[in-house]
Amino acid sequence: MQYSQLYIPTLKEKPAEAEVISHQLMLRAGYIRKLTSGIYSFLPLGVRSLRKMEAIIREEMNRAGAQEVLLPALQPAELWQESGRWEKYGKELFRVRDRHNHDYCLGPTHEEVITDLLRHEIRSYRQLPINLYQIQTKFRDEIRPRFGLMRGREFVMKDGYSFDRDEGGAGKTYQKMFDAYQRIFARCGLRFKAVEADSGAIGGSYSHEFMVLAESGEDAILACAACSYAANVERAESLDRFQAGPTEGLKAKEKIYTPGQRTVEEVTRFLSIPPQSLVKTLIYQTERGPAAVLVRGDQEVNETKLAKALDCQELILAEALKVQELTGAPVGFAGAVGLSLPLWADQTLEGLKNFVMGANEADNHWINLNWGTDMPQPQWADLRLVQAGEPCPRCQSALEAYRGIEVGHVFKLGDKYSRSMKATYLDEEGREQFMVMGCFGIGVGRTVAAAIEQNHDRDGIIWPMALAPFQVLITPIEWKPGTETQQSALAFYEELERSGIEVLLDDREERPGIKFKDADLIGIPLRVTIGPKGLAEGIVEVRERRSGQVIKVPKDQLVRKIREKVSEALKS
Ligand code: ATP
Ligand code: MG
Repeated sequence: MQYSQLYIPTLKEKPAEAEVISHQLMLRAGYIRKLTSGIYSFLPLGVRSLRKMEAIIREEMNRAGAQEVLLPALQPAELWQESGRWEKYGKELFRVRDRHNHDYCLGPTHEEVITDLLRHEIRSYRQLPINLYQIQTKFRDEIRPRFGLMRGREFVMKDGYSFDRDEGGAGKTYQKMFDAYQRIFARCGLRFKAVEADSGAIGGSYSHEFMVLAESGEDAILACAACSYAANVERAESLDRFQAGPTEGLKAKEKIYTPGQRTVEEVTRFLSIPPQSLVKTLIYQTERGPAAVLVRGDQEVNETKLAKALDCQELILAEALKVQELTGAPVGFAGAVGLSLPLWADQTLEGLKNFVMGANEADNHWINLNWGTDMPQPQWADLRLVQAGEPCPRCQSALEAYRGIEVGHVFKLGDKYSRSMKATYLDEEGREQFMVMGCFGIGVGRTVAAAIEQNHDRDGIIWPMALAPFQVLITPIEWKPGTETQQSALAFYEELERSGIEVLLDDREERPGIKFKDADLIGIPLRVTIGPKGLAEGIVEVRERRSGQVIKVPKDQLVRKIREKVSEALKS
């Protein structure tokens, strides 16, 4: 392709609305344009990178035995009512009504549609397992669309769904998909981790998220330095249990005047105690009513774990007025003594003796409190956020903190949808059984953006070879008809194309400085610079975008050298 024939509208200025680097660079380098909040157009370079990503996904999915389908984006409300998600999915679901007043939604995901398809097709165990996927535009009315392609309201996803006879079969499919995902993200040249995750609203029992490691990532991850344990912080299990000193006896509780001392820091300083001796009481509101949640002074509540323990969908920290109403005291003085709310406590607190809590009275705290004697035994659960440095739940080495961008997600769904939508088959004995499902997503656009988060410098994008819109850019430093520079550039261009290399020729009549700047910005991995001086010596220069390293290559070896470098970079 020739540069002059391709629409690459690069921008000089940093776009003000873009908070993260991938978003800035995709706008600046002319890959995408915004239509409106969370909705983007792909320009020619953007489409090429997106298609590359899709091709890798297709190859690996097909190789793993999945088959491509294309399901409708417009879905009748009835299916969602059947699964119970018409209500549950909430405001993220784009709902539309047709001229006959029938309700539809724009698919944010396709469990309902695929389950409906297969319940009408599959009769016998002989037809299972089956694993289908599609690459398609999804719609989600995200509460906060942001970061360009990372969190859009319309975006391209690969979503796959598997149907097995039983748990054993579903486990094997899950493993196959897990392995395929490892290959997909490795082929993209990304640094990533597969982490244990919470299954969230889709439901199901077990899941892994694939996280591209990047500082700008929305997700916090803890990973073991020694073994392969890695988990989303939302899910990371805590190993710590409180171990009381054996000699400590129970003391009698005593109310202490603590004027204006509300925060953990203030109270512990005022009473000269360590934060481990203070129990924080947090009042949460849920659709099932309020609850008091107790965690150690130096620890934080993990709301995902808490929602699971309380078995609720909605969970918010009560506002000051509500806290006052429920505890009788302003925020900062809540405690469990005499409180008539369900009590939930983090398991780290079990065995703690003679601790401190708010007294449900302004400017007062209790000291020397004990479970059972001074308040009822709470319900114990793992409710807190695990922190870096804590022991790994598998091997007890230290956990390390990372940030990541979730690019893929593999779930075991079990019979959640096959049961609610009655997708059954007849087993070998002629008995009716529910199919056991899995579902497997990849954010296609999000992965492309994540690749930029991980691969850029101050001058622009540095594409991994596999996702680059072109593998090689030829930059003649002048473009005048009849010159040797132009003729050689054209000759190399044709020869590289013939040998299967994806090559872009910068045929613009621009100064070399401008061409080089644009080249760095759009991020093609290899640049061949051609000028009269080199040609006179029989050489051209090959520059690697990532290292900036330049090598001089004899003209007649250029094609071989480029092919070598491209195939080396595509190996993974
Ligand atoms: P998140 O927690 O980021 O909202 P999710 O759990 O809602 O993600 P899934 O329903 O598992 O996401 O969707 C599968 C994949 O689709 C995700 O792993 C992610 O890569 C991608 N994805 C999800 N939401 C968006 C979005 N709004 N924009 C772009 N990609 C998305
Ligand atoms: Mg989401």
